[in-house]
Amino acid sequence: MSPARRHDVVVVGGGNAGISLAAKLLRDGCRDVAVVEPKAVHHYRPLLSYVAGGAATLDDLTRPQERAMPRGVHRYADRATAVDVDAAEVVLAGGTRLAYRDVAVCPGSEVDHDAMPGLREAFATPHAATSYLVDHAPRTWRMLSGLTSGRAVFVVSDRHVPCAPVGLKPLFLAADHWRRTGVLDDVEIDLLLEGPRLAGLARADHELRAAARRYGVRVRTGTTVTRVDGQGRTLEVASPDGPRTLGYDALYVAPPHRAPAWVAASGLAGARSDGFVDVDPETLRHRVHPRVWALGDVATVGTSPSGGALRKQVPVVAHNIAAQRAGAPVRRYDGYTVAPVTTSRTRLLLAEHDRDGRAEPTVPFPDLTRPRRALYLFDRHVEPLVYWHRLLRGKVS
Ligand SMILES: Cc1cc2nc3c(=O)[nH]c(=O)nc-3n(C[C@H](O)[C@H](O)[C@H](O)COP(=O)(O)OP(=O)(O)OC[C@H]3O[C@@H](n4cnc5c(N)ncnc54)[C@H](O)[C@@H]3O)c2cc1C
Repeated sequence: MSPARRHDVVVVGGGNAGISLAAKLLRDGCRDVAVVEPKAVHHYRPLLSYVAGGAATLDDLTRPQERAMPRGVHRYADRATAVDVDAAEVVLAGGTRLAYRDVAVCPGSEVDHDAMPGLREAFATPHAATSYLVDHAPRTWRMLSGLTSGRAVFVVSDRHVPCAPVGLKPLFLAADHWRRTGVLDDVEIDLLLEGPRLAGLARADHELRAAARRYGVRVRTGTTVTRVDGQGRTLEVASPDGPRTLGYDALYVAPPHRAPAWVAASGLAGARSDGFVDVDPETLRHRVHPRVWALGDVATVGTSPSGGALRKQVPVVAHNIAAQRAGAPVRRYDGYTVAPVTTSRTRLLLAEHDRDGRAEPTVPFPDLTRPRRALYLFDRHVEPLVYWHRLLRGKVS
């Protein structure tokens, strides 16, 4: 076995979390940062919802990985298969071992088809799709825009879905399209939510319910899909009213997600972390292994995971790695998260809140939980620029 290559900080995963953190560490003066990322392209994932709603293309959200990687980072175009905490090494699929002083684990989460029996098979038909898989997003819009009558069912899970309320964007973008093209009265729309609310903030939930009513959407909360029959185009659901069967002509699903299996196999999950990296939700340091940090969708931070949440998590982890080494006080993450949800093809609201569901608006005025045109334009056209030019450059504080 060849000796491990040594790096000061190894970052596993070059998505939103990993690249932003690597860039921030370099900005703060860390000289030796390695990023392990197998994919040749980088996606700005929030635009996938707009692709699924016919308001963006995959080209708008895709860039070559080398353009996303910060200058000065050591990139390993490989997949991590384990973190060996005893040896303080990351093991790559190609056999390379990377020794670290600190490791930041941020490979994101993945769609858990097994958590919804029949979903994989249904996704193989043209009548079911999701915005949560890149190749599905354009298919979602083909399916929704092709529907001129019948029943469209939208399902949003609350099991580790990244930024779950954005699962409503395809619904509202499609409903507004059906309204504009004069077929809304011929399309029955059902929204099935596993959780109790449309968004984690009461005010935003209220606005979204009002928007749903305007389009005639039937909203059912506390409802779980227990089986999908893609051939018969039916769903078995368990709801507070008991089990029932629901037919569909088009099915959109924001599906349950899970952590990569190697996280638990490496001993990074805890008894109650459901396979996700068991970090202290405030310091983002592993509860058992102090040189292991986690952020982003794979971390147990007690709040809805989102790209917006990373604006607060990245500076905390960058600071805490240096602070722990220097014996200085650590910073704490309050669980801030945000969900931008369209209510039409021109308006959007923001649900910004902390870990306890308390409102945490970025600006005190105007009220961003009210749907606004300016917010739609910002989310669709300005946020992607902020992402490429500021967030991925580590310009967060
Ligand atoms: C459809 C959709 C819409 C969204 N909309 C919004 C929104 O509007 N606003 C918002 O704030 N958030 C939104 N989010 C959430 C946001 O995109 C995520 O919270 C964010 O991307 C999490 O970053 P991450 O780095 O943890 O994970 P990811 O961005 O998923 O990155 C993980 C990276 O790790 C890599 N990786 C995986 N396994 C390994 C491995 N074994 N070894 C090495 N690398 C690995 C992957 O290739 C990937 O590049 C949305 C997400 C989706 C899917």
